[in-house]
Amino acid sequence: EHIANQIAAGEVVERPASVVKELVENAIDAGSTKIEVTVEEGGLQSIRVTDNGSGIDPNDCTAAFYRHATSKIEHSRDLFHITTLGFRGEALPSIAAVAKVELVTSSGDEGLGHRVVIEGGKLIADETIAAPRGTDLIIRELFYNTPARLKYMKTIQTELGHISDFMYRMALSHPQIAFSLRHNSNSLLQTVGNGDLLQVIAAVYGTQAAKAMLPIQAENLDFQLHGYISRPEWTRSNRNGISTMVNGRYIRNFGVNQAIQRAYHTLLPINRFPLAVFDLRMHPSLVDVNVHPAKLEVRFSKEQELYPFVEQSIYQVLRQEVL
Ligand code: ADP
Ligand code: MG
Repeated sequence: EHIANQIAAGEVVERPASVVKELVENAIDAGSTKIEVTVEEGGLQSIRVTDNGSGIDPNDCTAAFYRHATSKIEHSRDLFHITTLGFRGEALPSIAAVAKVELVTSSGDEGLGHRVVIEGGKLIADETIAAPRGTDLIIRELFYNTPARLKYMKTIQTELGHISDFMYRMALSHPQIAFSLRHNSNSLLQTVGNGDLLQVIAAVYGTQAAKAMLPIQAENLDFQLHGYISRPEWTRSNRNGISTMVNGRYIRNFGVNQAIQRAYHTLLPINRFPLAVFDLRMHPSLVDVNVHPAKLEVRFSKEQELYPFVEQSIYQVLRQEVL
């Protein structure tokens, strides 16, 4: 076992948003119902993720920053976990290799926790302290010891854009988790985590957008579709207004996008685009997530049935509004 070297780290930690992604996914894996993300200067100055999840066992605290020889995938039957193949057990070591990391975590209810500080892969502090249940990770000065990587960073606004896009997707795909995102002292996102997708839509796109949404609910033997599409009179969306989840995971799929657009454009002007947020449910064996891990692209084994189902379900609801 050894601390990940900086070259390997580059594969996992491309930019501040990659750090946010890894930490938030860990927080979700830990069963958190509340996840707070605070970043400074687009995440380049600091990234802090605080959760109320299971915490890390004191005996595992320093080990979590070392490379694991084992992989969770062999134990996991959830195909979506394979999307991060190659990164399993490498996120924390990789981040610790290229930043200054402070971890405070507690797995119990006795108020006792553990604090670990690692800078550039070196263990600086390892102590018992008082802490609430959950995990609080602060990543400071990302790429401070890899100036070549730092040079590739775009503007603060660009880096922040990647972070907020990711957080919006997480909020939309996990309405039962309360997310917050703050940049410097501005609040960019705040969801309540009560499971209501429409409230998340209001938090992400604004209350006006949420008011313009029509519920869609449809199912057949293979698929269930649940979500919202904007009413015909909503004109403030562009081509990027469609978010699709499959079995609760945010994905990209050209065919589903096209099916939604087709339903919409059969009834409405071609230069207008819907705001739409959908969760598709189906048996995991009908989804192949190996198409393009990094881009979250999936392929459906029953696409000939799926696309018409999506199109028809949306068309029927929209048509009642237009006629
Ligand atoms: P992986 O998520 O692939 O296991 P990571 O490097 O991301 O690898 O995390 C290493 C381990 O540290 C996790 O498996 C988990 O046991 C623990 N861990 C990391 N973050 C958290 C967290 N927020 N809450 C609880 N445990 C965590
Ligand atoms: Mg992880």
